[in-house]
Amino acid sequence: MEFKTKPSQKFDLPKRLARLGELAFNLWWTWQPEAARLFGKLDYDLWERLGHNPIRLLNEIGRERLDEAAEDQDYLALYDSLFEKFDLYFKKESWSQKAHPELKNSIAYFSMEFGLHETLPIYSGGLGVLAGDHLKESSDLGLPLVAVGFMYAQGYFSQRISEDGWQEALNNPLTVEHLPVSLVTKNDKPVTVEIKFPDRSILAQIWEVRVGRVALYLLDSNVEANDEHDRLLTARLYWSDLDRRMMQEILLGIGGVRALRALGYAPDVWHMNEGHASFLTLERARELVATGLTFADAIQKNRGQNVFTTHTPVPAGNDEFPLWLVDKYLSSYWGELGLTREEFIDVAKHRQGHSETYSMPILALKLSGGSNGVSELHGEVSRDMWKFLWQDRDVKDVPIQHVTNGVHTANWMARRLNMLLEKYLGDDWYDNLDDHALMAKLDSIPDSELWSTRLHLKRKLAFYMRERVRERWTGGGFHPVQVVSSGVMINPYALTIGFARRFATYKRANLIFSDIDRMLELINRPNMPVQIIFAGKAHPADEPGKQLIQKVYRNVKKAETGGRLVFLEDYDMNLARYLVQGVDVWMNTPRRPLEASGTSGMKAAINGALNFSVLDGWWREAYNGRNGWSIGEDKEYESTEAQDQFDAGDLYNTLENKIIPLYYDRDPKEISHEWVAMMKDTMKTCIPQFSTRRMVKQYVEKFYAPALKK
Ligand SMILES: *Cc1c(COP(=O)(O)O)cnc(C)c1O
Repeated sequence: MEFKTKPSQKFDLPKRLARLGELAFNLWWTWQPEAARLFGKLDYDLWERLGHNPIRLLNEIGRERLDEAAEDQDYLALYDSLFEKFDLYFKKESWSQKAHPELKNSIAYFSMEFGLHETLPIYSGGLGVLAGDHLKESSDLGLPLVAVGFMYAQGYFSQRISEDGWQEALNNPLTVEHLPVSLVTKNDKPVTVEIKFPDRSILAQIWEVRVGRVALYLLDSNVEANDEHDRLLTARLYWSDLDRRMMQEILLGIGGVRALRALGYAPDVWHMNEGHASFLTLERARELVATGLTFADAIQKNRGQNVFTTHTPVPAGNDEFPLWLVDKYLSSYWGELGLTREEFIDVAKHRQGHSETYSMPILALKLSGGSNGVSELHGEVSRDMWKFLWQDRDVKDVPIQHVTNGVHTANWMARRLNMLLEKYLGDDWYDNLDDHALMAKLDSIPDSELWSTRLHLKRKLAFYMRERVRERWTGGGFHPVQVVSSGVMINPYALTIGFARRFATYKRANLIFSDIDRMLELINRPNMPVQIIFAGKAHPADEPGKQLIQKVYRNVKKAETGGRLVFLEDYDMNLARYLVQGVDVWMNTPRRPLEASGTSGMKAAINGALNFSVLDGWWREAYNGRNGWSIGEDKEYESTEAQDQFDAGDLYNTLENKIIPLYYDRDPKEISHEWVAMMKDTMKTCIPQFSTRRMVKQYVEKFYAPALKK
């Protein structure tokens, strides 16, 4: 089908700089530090004030300044070299074309959230950021990936912390004209998909986001034809009420397939990032049933092309729906599959005692040719958790493999560090970043250069914190104790630990406060100060999570901490970037084995920060005794109390006896050489292994390419 895309915004640009508009609408710019500079140089203050939003910048800066830049030779040189790189990016033969020419048709990737940039807040945390990184890497590798998600009209909430440590959620209604999205149209009308429920139909329009070579399509129910209630269906991430949640997931799975069909795609592989998208398996079966196949034959024929990634190591964390909701929304659908109600429900039925629910992961597991967890340990945990679906098999033969998560290097590595690697590893190091042998060259970087680069990044973080506080303080209604708690007393020369992630109780943000006196003693030692920076949001409906934030905040506020503990509001991708690039140590204290993978520690590691974490998820695979530190042991404990107690003791001991003394063990030039050796080891081991480069290639080798032969 012939479709057009209508950008949310048109700019008035000088002819010589006309392509800035094109760049603003391709998120490729977000992982090119030079591209951000190209926008920033137009007006740094405005660029910061607008939160790095090029669409707004080009719209609000005024023609006069643009005309000036169009005459500025330095600016034009930067402009020309960037667009040369941009054009080459699309022209160059890609890894996918070389290694897997058989992957010609598209690979569809479905996810409830995508974390691509802070100006497009359609993500809540790790799952979304992982999906965003998957798209960026697929673009770098030249995979013919096409993605489907939601346009959330209200965005994800912004977080404020009250003087007493209570999380306040500010809604973030999005303004389409400020976003890098284009409406998909045909004959000047929006292309829509329709979902029929027993009592009514819902329409969704489609927005396109360009991510390098990859297209992401966002479904949006905010159209006139829908009633008020249905227009809000895609307004928020994860409605807590199951009714809307069910409709959302029907729209994602079933509507998503229809959207791709409407746009003319015929994917060879269908990848579900978590169970929210599982209904796509049914819709694909329905397409075949409509041509005359039975449901059994249809799923047999389709299964090989479905790929399912699970992220949830606890049964309660998985999406399940009561059967009455299935009746309410799908009772006209099972007929289209040629099934009775019983047969339909049976496909995804989860029986626990007397209760029966409709389980999204079971649906995906049963109808996918390939399934995986997101770390080695999580693969094991998942096989154990789902083995009841394969009663006749040994647990080791349960068909769930693992592909450990990774992070998109260019997206997360500091510009300065990238420049340092270009100097010592070669200009093309990024093209070969998963080559372990190349990484050995990191040893040739003089210790003093790596140390001073890290110091620069920590100062940048301190500066950024101060400017954020200044803005809050100037805005009024901000108590002095909140100013102190936001990091104004941070010393960029002191050992700085970061702890930032979603505030779910299993992440145990308060483990370090198990023994307050000991903690105070550790951070306040003469000549060896320690600072800890916390950040993270709790889901607005998660009361224990919000109470945890409050407990942490009340400790942060105490005068005895000397301003060395900090809680930063509103953790998002921008703040995450400053933190993972700026801190010396990244701490993570999940209650094993609940972390599944975790990715923020990888972002820190590729920037040379040292991980200090529980041996769960990815860190259990990365830790080698020389590239960071462990908390607790590589085993399960008999009770959570025993686990918490042991882990807390181990945490204090390692900090006191290993981490702090090592950081302050300086030569006459104030450098800790052993620390630098550990930084190099962490970068050498983590850059190649815990990158999306390695991860997406594994998805290709283990799942995407084999799917074509099934
Ligand atoms: C990376 C990231 C996460 C995920 O961190 P985990 O360590 O996996 O919990 C969450 N939020 C943001 C903003 C991130 O950048």
